Amino acid sequence: MSARWSDRQQAMLREMGVTLWLPPTPAEVPVPEAAMPEPVPAAVAVPVPVQAPVPSPAPAPAPVRMSRPAAVSTEPDPPSVPRPLAARPSGVAAMDWPALREAVAGCEACGLCRSRRNTVFGVGHEQAQWMIVGEAPGEQEDLRGEPFVGKAGQLLDNMLRAVGLTRAEAGPEQQVYIANVLKCRPPMNRNPEPQEVAQCEPFLKRQVELVAPKLILAMGRFAVQSILQTGEPIGRLRGRVHAYHGVPVVVTYHPAYLLRNPADKSRSWEDLCLAREVLRQAGG
Ligand code: SF4
Repeated sequence: MSARWSDRQQAMLREMGVTLWLPPTPAEVPVPEAAMPEPVPAAVAVPVPVQAPVPSPAPAPAPVRMSRPAAVSTEPDPPSVPRPLAARPSGVAAMDWPALREAVAGCEACGLCRSRRNTVFGVGHEQAQWMIVGEAPGEQEDLRGEPFVGKAGQLLDNMLRAVGLTRAEAGPEQQVYIANVLKCRPPMNRNPEPQEVAQCEPFLKRQVELVAPKLILAMGRFAVQSILQTGEPIGRLRGRVHAYHGVPVVVTYHPAYLLRNPADKSRSWEDLCLAREVLRQAGG
């Protein structure tokens, strides 16, 4: 439809005294397509006998000031810096029980010190004939500061009782000494890292020297592999007598493993019998 009145219509409107204001055609004023306004009525008839108002020019839009964006640093946030580690206390090899206990309690030689609640030093008779060596504290041990608690600890108690041993107060023939290779809990019970074992192992070595047991029963893959310095699985190490700094070592499964794999309890019983036989031959 034409946006303009026809010549005949314009003539009629002029006859009526209507003055027409006609917008310029698009051809007269080029307008960018994107800025094309909504269609407007082609003409507005204003029935007044006066001269049509001249549309005042639209005020020029005020220049838009682009405010400068606030300065944003492109530098990445600095990572949270973990607490620096400290060297393991010196002189571990010559420490007595109180000094050793204190050294472990304050040790920050590996990253496990950052997540532990308590160090787990060890418990039992300090001249025990049997020494039980486990891997590392779990959640309950970390909370209580004591090795082998919870269901795994109860199973260990039953295993010890089966061969006439206990962790309760008794003489050095019956009461065992229990320690772990690692004194701090690995987060989420993950496997210990080699450098963590390397940092912590001197504490265990000194405990073994102080207890001077006649036999070590090593329980669980990491305990066994750490003190025997081997990557062989327990299945290939069982049934033989090994040694740790001159002390006979018999290896067996960790009670936590036996809770998940009760079929292997009979093998563990064989290991206990072997350990008892080793001790008997040693005069224990
Ligand atoms: S795991 Fe051993 S070496 Fe590591 S912080 Fe604990 S006590 Fe120290």
